[in-house]
Amino acid sequence: MIAKVRVLDSPRVTPTVHSVKFEKPPGFVFAPVQFCGLELSTEEGPVEYPMSLACSPTKPYLEFGARVSDSSWKRAFAKLKPGDEAEVDGAYGHFVLNEAAPAILVAGGIGITPLKGMAEYAADRELPIDIRLVYSSRNEEEMAYRSELEELTRLNAHFKVFHTLTRTPEDSPWTGRRGRIDADLLSEASRGLASANYYVCGTSGLVQETQRMLMQLGVGADHINFEVFRGYG
Ligand SMILES: Cc1cc2nc3c(=O)[nH]c(=O)nc-3n(C[C@H](O)[C@H](O)[C@H](O)COP(=O)(O)OP(=O)(O)OC[C@H]3O[C@@H](n4cnc5c(N)ncnc54)[C@H](O)[C@@H]3O)c2cc1C
Repeated sequence: MIAKVRVLDSPRVTPTVHSVKFEKPPGFVFAPVQFCGLELSTEEGPVEYPMSLACSPTKPYLEFGARVSDSSWKRAFAKLKPGDEAEVDGAYGHFVLNEAAPAILVAGGIGITPLKGMAEYAADRELPIDIRLVYSSRNEEEMAYRSELEELTRLNAHFKVFHTLTRTPEDSPWTGRRGRIDADLLSEASRGLASANYYVCGTSGLVQETQRMLMQLGVGADHINFEVFRGYG
């Protein structure tokens, strides 16, 4: 479906992540959580980027989150204000939560977007499956959707979050885990869950590295789902 949509809200959620909510067009359906083409008017004319939806299909709006940069599309995205118009084309893709099996969500940076949507979906639908989110951010300020994720852990007793910070200074007050996602963290997150499905999202480097670690841990390829945010090198 291709539809014009109007902006409802357009906040900066971390120093480098911008979030936009749009009105949901009547009849727009998607699975948790696919992606859309999002076309914006830029200085170079209309440009469409593939963007994961950053919310559950149970929500009454469409949400997207992007890491800002100096490209014309990103500048246009960051400048959107309530009432502005854009065009969505979708939804597409096979990166969809299996509602019948435990899920380990693995997010690198802005790769959190569809995984937040999956966690919202599980809470809204009161799915009885365990869901563990492993979320790597540069530092505390760059943890996008931190309060939303905390709220989801309160709402859903089956949902847990494992944060790790990759670039936080040694002397920062952070007492949690530091460093990149590694095999130890993946094992800890999946402890006690039989036949879990993995959903990995981020840059191609993060996705490839996580797939390699999961295979070494004995996870079958048929249990590993991934979405690569091409365009981030
Ligand atoms: C399925 C899917 C889902 C995605 N979901 C998200 C998401 O939720 N959040 C997010 O931040 N990113 C997402 N991306 C990546 C996004 O589409 C961009 O490629 C990425 O954000 C980098 O854009 P940039 O303009 O900052 O890149 P830059 O490196 O600044 O761009 C350099 C040049 O390449 C062009 N360019 C870069 N990417 C694209 C593109 N995709 N299409 C056309 N031209 C491009 C730019 O216009 C610019 O001229 C997703 C990608 C895919 C494939």
